[in-house]
Amino acid sequence: MTSPLPVELIGAPLDWGASRRGCRLGPDALRALSLLQMVQEMGREIFDGGNVQLPPALPAGSPSTGLNNEHAVVQTCEALAERVEAAMMGGRFPLVVGGDHSIAMGTLGGVARVVPNLGLIWVDAHADFNDSVTSPSKNIHGMPLAAIVGQSDAVLNEIAGVNPKVRPEKAVLLGVRDLDKLEIPKLHGSGLTVFTSWEIERRGIQAVVADALAVAGEGTDGVHLSFDLDSLNPLEMPGTGTTAAGGLTFREGSVLVNQVHASGRMVSFEVTELNPLLDLAGMSCRMARDLILYGLGKPLF
Ligand code: MG
Ligand code: MG
Repeated sequence: MTSPLPVELIGAPLDWGASRRGCRLGPDALRALSLLQMVQEMGREIFDGGNVQLPPALPAGSPSTGLNNEHAVVQTCEALAERVEAAMMGGRFPLVVGGDHSIAMGTLGGVARVVPNLGLIWVDAHADFNDSVTSPSKNIHGMPLAAIVGQSDAVLNEIAGVNPKVRPEKAVLLGVRDLDKLEIPKLHGSGLTVFTSWEIERRGIQAVVADALAVAGEGTDGVHLSFDLDSLNPLEMPGTGTTAAGGLTFREGSVLVNQVHASGRMVSFEVTELNPLLDLAGMSCRMARDLILYGLGKPLF
């Protein structure tokens, strides 16, 4: 087995895609909890690439689509795509930490420039499958998965100049349980593979992740893992902005990320929606850090 690539940590402290502020503090909270040192201690090389620079947000809405803070989100994603592409071209494994989930459009833009035939595993309580018409809130963090497979508004689909970034039949949504009314028919017609949190309860996490890896990993040149922390049970992960009951346990989340790592197919990894302002005594921040370690190959035992 070849040794794993060195990791480049890229912070994307964006929270203009969400309605609540605070996700901008996620990357620095993880640094404060010694994330880099702990990755080094497990024997994997890691560089801190710093944070992507954010433009100031415009007032809510945009003239064309009504998407909240469209300009700030799109500009940040374009900058992030450049950073992720550069990391991969330099032989490094991008670890992107958010930031709200809209950053995934930038991350995947950068990854897809390097790996055009890409698979995607998207772990989330929500489908993030809205567009400006179906979204009740017009917040862009409810839209990135649709944009990545080319099924949201053109201004989002076209981020980083790659559309779609992932073909729908190679994208898997896992852990979903809280959908918007108009999102449901859109998702049914999308071509995505969907595993709800109830299916995980029924079949077990390892069997579902194996199926997800078969869809995203076979016939592609690599898999991106995008992990929204609200996929976890809010009793364990309170530090995130849009909680939904009935989520994955930390134990299931740990197995999931470790199993994707162990497949040898993962080319990039992203953890989003950590909001330290909503956390209880740091428990969510520590849990996010530990999930990252398992996703980078720390043994479960
Ligand atoms: Mg999400
Ligand atoms: Mg979510």
